[in-house]
Amino acid sequence: MDDGSPAAPLISVVIPLYNEGSHVSELLLDLKSALQQTGCRFEVVLVDDGSPDDTWERIKGEARALPNLRAMRLSRNFGKELALCAGLERARGDAVVVMDGDGQHPPSLVPIMVEKWRTSGADIVQAVKVKRGRESATSKVGAFLFYVILNKLSGFELRGASDFKLMNRKVLDTWLAMRERNVFFRGMTAWMGFNVAQIPFDVALRRTGKSGWSYFRRAKLALIGITTFSSFPLHFVTFAGVIFFIFAVGLGIQTLYLKLAGRAFTGFATVILLELIIGSLLMISLGIIGEYLARIYEEVKGRPRYIVSESIDPEQ
Ligand code: UDP
Ligand code: MG
Repeated sequence: MDDGSPAAPLISVVIPLYNEGSHVSELLLDLKSALQQTGCRFEVVLVDDGSPDDTWERIKGEARALPNLRAMRLSRNFGKELALCAGLERARGDAVVVMDGDGQHPPSLVPIMVEKWRTSGADIVQAVKVKRGRESATSKVGAFLFYVILNKLSGFELRGASDFKLMNRKVLDTWLAMRERNVFFRGMTAWMGFNVAQIPFDVALRRTGKSGWSYFRRAKLALIGITTFSSFPLHFVTFAGVIFFIFAVGLGIQTLYLKLAGRAFTGFATVILLELIIGSLLMISLGIIGEYLARIYEEVKGRPRYIVSESIDPEQ
């Protein structure tokens, strides 16, 4: 698979795979011809994210034919972000391309990315979604809301951002130095900054199978994205507390005045309403604090981010 001259840069392509066994071979075939067009040396790093299907067997089969294929199998499903971490830590390239293994990120874009990287001198070449591909309406609305909220809270514009990108060694090393366990790849690359060049692309259809993300997992990633990138929700609790305190003082004074003036205050409805509002506000506040506590707890535990159970490394 090694076709470029020794002086040519080494490109690593990192792909997390979960239940993608049915099209690993086609993916590698497309990728190989795309990478050959770049004239660079290359390696492919596949991470099987604990797929219950035959993904790992397929990868092992492919590895016999492709000397520059390196792969590892995680001991269970750790989720895409952590599978990416595992792959990125093993990538040795001067530049690394990250892409999905379901055919939604066309390999034909890789040579264009590499070309852009070599000519523009950008540190990151980012493929930007022009069309989000075929998705359910709820998933579109969910993505829209998530990006609007994240943008308002953290100031990072991630709409259209995808996990299809090329990073040079400098960016990769910086990314690897961020040891957090709550990984949100898109957000972290935006946070790092650097020179970013963009390439538009249309999200293709999934080859086969279905997306490995349930609504619940998407919501969880969205929550991690927001809580790791903004502490505004925590400040909001304090802010709301102050507003309610002012309100309570006002109401207290009015009640006292009415009492002193001898006009009995029969505000049963007001009491019930206040109880409900304050009760729910307290619950939300505690929930928000809980979210951050959960993040801190996970970081403090200091566990490994993922566990590799098997790996294929032709050079070892
Ligand atoms: N993926 C993974 N672990 C998971 C879920 C997904 O490694 O738990 C991989 C999957 O194989 C694919 C990429 O992440 O290569 C994108 O996943 P998917 O297509 O399900 O996400 P979507 O395109 O719907 O956002
Ligand atoms: Mg997909």
